[in-house]
Amino acid sequence: MVISVAVDVNEIAHLGKDFPWIKPSGCPRCEQPLWWHGFVLAYFSCLLGAVYLRRLRCPCCRAIHRLKPVGYWRRFRSPATDIDQAVTHRQNSGRWLHDQPRPRQRQWWRRLQHMSQVVLGLSVPAVSAFATLSARGFIPVSRSFYCDTSGIDPPPYRTVSLPPVS
Ligand SMILES: [Zn+2]
Repeated sequence: MVISVAVDVNEIAHLGKDFPWIKPSGCPRCEQPLWWHGFVLAYFSCLLGAVYLRRLRCPCCRAIHRLKPVGYWRRFRSPATDIDQAVTHRQNSGRWLHDQPRPRQRQWWRRLQHMSQVVLGLSVPAVSAFATLSARGFIPVSRSFYCDTSGIDPPPYRTVSLPPVS
């Protein structure tokens, strides 16, 4: 599972493996104390190179967890706030932001439309679609309809079956 922690991704990049990660109080699954379990490389849109994120292992349920700077969704390299900004801007002005890659913004927009349609039943995403979907635990611009409930009680993911994108 991914455990979101309030740390600065720039600081992690700067300090590398010396970054002082704080061990979570217990396994999100079984609440037993966790053991450090090496590092994993991860990429973020705000940084050029990869950064080392800390991994943990639960000796009780054998789950492997990783710590992730808060504000990033699973499998997303841009912080959630950047994505929110881009789709909100597109919604309000019909334009793309200049400081974000356009293909990426298009992809977020398309996925938001698709998810608004399927989950909320809207033909055009409403201004509140992004917030509504987030509040329900969805990643509003994800292609997979997993709920990002990292850090919340198990079960970790709720799957919703969907028709394919037309
Ligand atoms: Zn465990």
